Amino acid sequence: MKMLIIIIFVMIIVPKIILSKELAVTIDDLPIVHANVFTQKQQKIIFNKILKTLDKYNVKIVGFVIGQEINSYNHYMLDTLLAKGHSIGNHTYSHPYYKEVTIDFYCNDILKGEKILEPWLSEPKYFRYPMLHQGETRFKKDTMKNFLLGQHYTIAHVSIDNDEWMYNADYEEAFFNKDENKMKEIGLNYLEHMKERTYFFESMANNKLGRNIKHILLIHMNLLNSDYLENLLEWYKNEKWHYITLQEALSDPVYQIEDQYIGDRGISFLERIYINP
Ligand SMILES: [Zn+2]
Repeated sequence: MKMLIIIIFVMIIVPKIILSKELAVTIDDLPIVHANVFTQKQQKIIFNKILKTLDKYNVKIVGFVIGQEINSYNHYMLDTLLAKGHSIGNHTYSHPYYKEVTIDFYCNDILKGEKILEPWLSEPKYFRYPMLHQGETRFKKDTMKNFLLGQHYTIAHVSIDNDEWMYNADYEEAFFNKDENKMKEIGLNYLEHMKERTYFFESMANNKLGRNIKHILLIHMNLLNSDYLENLLEWYKNEKWHYITLQEALSDPVYQIEDQYIGDRGISFLERIYINP
């Protein structure tokens, strides 16, 4: 009997504990963050390195594109992503901050982005709010949510929010100053930051829901990740995370919980839901 319990524990419970760490990786601001400060050759290197790392870890992403950033040079990147089995979602045409524009402007910007993305936009259609800002008033928030639903969009929530974009800004500066020591220091700090944010949202999920959830990570297509995504994905792998698609992650019932946050902060989905324990 005792043996049977041990066997059941090892065969059923243990894999469940291990498998409960599931992560979808999403990458924003395609084709390349701050593309205009890089040469085409540098852009190609950034893109290829990130793509190679994704391949190495067999991670299938949804990449969110800023419509106005697509041009005749870089559109091959979107072709390549699709050819490699990744998906492409809408991240608006001009990446507006919802608080600073009208509802009409924002809706048009989404449609403009969709029109440009037509040859590449994946099904289901995903939308990612720029800066994760969904509306500072209930009216603005509800109107946009309903608009997106009417346009058959699935909102690409984020559970592991972070300040990776700030590390990238410093990293770019060090890169152009050819300060390799500084770059290394920023890179290592970035990895520490991502570990902290991951633990933070893992424990938030456990506190709010009594379990871990299928997490969704937000990072960007930038110089920093061309050098450090490999370390980051290796860390998740060593921490026994399993990579899943955004579609799989969004099947977690947590994402059906009403998002009750009204305000101008761009925050994690976990911070938007209030649950009585
Ligand atoms: Zn963005």
